[in-house]
Amino acid sequence: EGLVKHFPITGGLFGRVVDKVHAVDGVSFEIGQGETLGVVGESGCGKSTTGRCILRLIEPTAGEVTFAGKSVSAASKRELRALARDMQIIFQDPYASLNPRMTVAAIVGEALTIHKLTKTAREQEDRTVQLLETVGLSADHLRRFPHEFSGGQRQRIGIARALAVSPKLIVCDEAVSALDVSIQAQVINLLEDLRDQFGLSYMFIAHDLSVVEHISHRVAVMYLGRIVEIAPAQALYTNPQHPYTEALLSAVPIPDPAVKRARIPLLGDVPSPIKPPSGCHFHTRCPIAKKGLCDVEKPVLKAVGGDNSHQVACHLRG
Ligand code: SF4
Ligand code: MG
Repeated sequence: EGLVKHFPITGGLFGRVVDKVHAVDGVSFEIGQGETLGVVGESGCGKSTTGRCILRLIEPTAGEVTFAGKSVSAASKRELRALARDMQIIFQDPYASLNPRMTVAAIVGEALTIHKLTKTAREQEDRTVQLLETVGLSADHLRRFPHEFSGGQRQRIGIARALAVSPKLIVCDEAVSALDVSIQAQVINLLEDLRDQFGLSYMFIAHDLSVVEHISHRVAVMYLGRIVEIAPAQALYTNPQHPYTEALLSAVPIPDPAVKRARIPLLGDVPSPIKPPSGCHFHTRCPIAKKGLCDVEKPVLKAVGGDNSHQVACHLRG
């Protein structure tokens, strides 16, 4: 609720704070149990920072995070350790997040040890093998090291490690973005199976709308630290409202060659989050921006249609 994260920029001889990066600029949303919220936007729009703030891997500047009725924001160190079992994160590059000197058995087993989830070595081995089998690997892989695996298999190891503590929410931060398209589909299918099997919730971050389409129940589109549109996946893909969503969607290839969609080019790069544009952050790139309105007034999320499930932040839409 109202999540804000500013990173200070220091400068000068005395390291004064001279500016700040507005990484997350007032973001609110919820994710239900067993639900996947896809979060999409170009790099630098605050998706990962939002995910990390939820887990308090970084401390938000303002805002409130609540998990299953408990305040994450107000949690003590000890309470956070317990919450760390409920909430896990999987990263883009499993190779960077897996210790190259540790065997798969040690990598997956480590989480069990830290959280004292198994009592005996035998129990630990059984549970580790079970976790590997859950993600489509096997006992044969126990003694092997990360470099002996393909990218997709390494991501499976990362998922097994996250699952070791029986989490309820997993933030998947570009978890499939580095993989080939066919491998992406396999890992997404695995994540879906695991979600349905264990009732997991996902915050599924990607920079591209096509990646999240299949797995998401709802999708939030972020631009320069703000959610500009949030909707049930079906509504977002068939009836996008925000000009930024339209542009992102126009870049998604359509498998049916009979359907034509004009590509809406996005002009220039994302502006710097140090001095984001006034009013609507998107006005410098928006093809329909209205001078005197869009560059002055900040649009807030408002409902599209009858219920609140589809919301857009645009002066001219919704
Ligand atoms: Fe474009 Fe204005 Fe809507 Fe922003 S508020 S998306 S600039 S039309
Ligand atoms: Mg990121």
